[in-house]
Amino acid sequence: MDKVILRPRREESLLRYHPWVFSGAIAQITGHPAEGDLVGVYAADGRFLAYGHYQIGSIAVRVLSFDEDPTRADFWDVMLSRALALRQAYGLEAASHTNCYRLVHGEGDGLPGLIIDYYNGVCVLQAHSVGMFRAKGAICAALQRVYGAALKAVYDKSSGTAPFKAGLDLVDGYLWKAGSFTDDEQEVLENGHRFLVNWTEGQKTGFFLDQRENRFRVGALARGRNVLNLFCYTGGFSVYALGNGALHVDSVDSSRKAMDMVDRNVALNGFDPAMHTSYCADAMEFLRDVPEGKYNLMIVDPPAFAKHRGALKNALRAYQRLNAAAISKVAPGGFVFTFSCSQVVDKEAFALAVFSAAAETGRSVRILDRLNQPADHPVNIYHPEGEYLKGLLLYVE
Ligand code: SAH
Repeated sequence: MDKVILRPRREESLLRYHPWVFSGAIAQITGHPAEGDLVGVYAADGRFLAYGHYQIGSIAVRVLSFDEDPTRADFWDVMLSRALALRQAYGLEAASHTNCYRLVHGEGDGLPGLIIDYYNGVCVLQAHSVGMFRAKGAICAALQRVYGAALKAVYDKSSGTAPFKAGLDLVDGYLWKAGSFTDDEQEVLENGHRFLVNWTEGQKTGFFLDQRENRFRVGALARGRNVLNLFCYTGGFSVYALGNGALHVDSVDSSRKAMDMVDRNVALNGFDPAMHTSYCADAMEFLRDVPEGKYNLMIVDPPAFAKHRGALKNALRAYQRLNAAAISKVAPGGFVFTFSCSQVVDKEAFALAVFSAAAETGRSVRILDRLNQPADHPVNIYHPEGEYLKGLLLYVE
């Protein structure tokens, strides 16, 4: 295994278990590791620090282990079992009302560059690094051992996320499936609500599992309300609102495929179709035409406006504009659930954008709660960058 040797005193972040080595911290690399190879990381004085995947770019190594050698035969079994144990401990795995959750959340599960979502027996994997992409066969084999007969299929959906490298076969497809498994779609249960998840056609791995607890919160406040669900994707928040006594729900997304899925999910849960309307539209344009006071519960859950630091300023302006439009239109006594999933927009910056939006409208706005990502999207305490989903529950008079 090749060695990455750091400059003097550049080992400190690794000694605090931060899982990245930046290229600027490296003094010397022995051998010629290919991108994705396992390397050992050593301090300038020769002390061993960690094992990780080598990468070309500003993050040069993503750490897989600070002690155990990841080449040992049961490495993936151990790591995936640990991830599963957390979901079991939290009551997600084998809950009667929920059979989908994130099994592996990158750095949050000690596996930088790897996402695995579990949909009622189907695991959908996304590699965000060449190292994880190359390990997918071993990961798939370990998933089969860890889940046993409960596993129906393992689907690799890395084509949009793995860094493109010549020689990588970036075609999505099944790494394994049980003989009886034929569908590209699976019905899942989330807090007792039914959803269809399609990992081949859908966005990301097929479903936004990170909003499960916030959907529950919307459900708890939906009774008797007129609901507008903006950026609804396949209708997660809409189904919870309808299932908990909302008077009517309007769902809006610019994706036609997503809106077709919303209609199927509303039907799947047996709701009266008259209580729900789908709009395939731009959310901002839709809001412009909304009569003031029509809705007294709004959900605003846009895609990440900033994917990197350089886009931060424009993103904050976009959050402000969108939230000002929502806050200005919601009925007095209304709730607004507003979110940002941009990792580079931290919770203070987001709150400031929403504050500026509220000030623009001049209305009385109070923060009732601060919302987060759920336990199956854990944040490694040594890697606070893993915190990305944030939201506010507003009460507007
Ligand atoms: N709230 C959803 C997840 C939202 S993801 C859930 O609970 O599942 C963001 C969504 O915004 C995507 O479905 C995407 O299609 C949609 N989107 C992106 N740009 C948009 C725009 N300008 N107007 C409306 N929808 C948009």
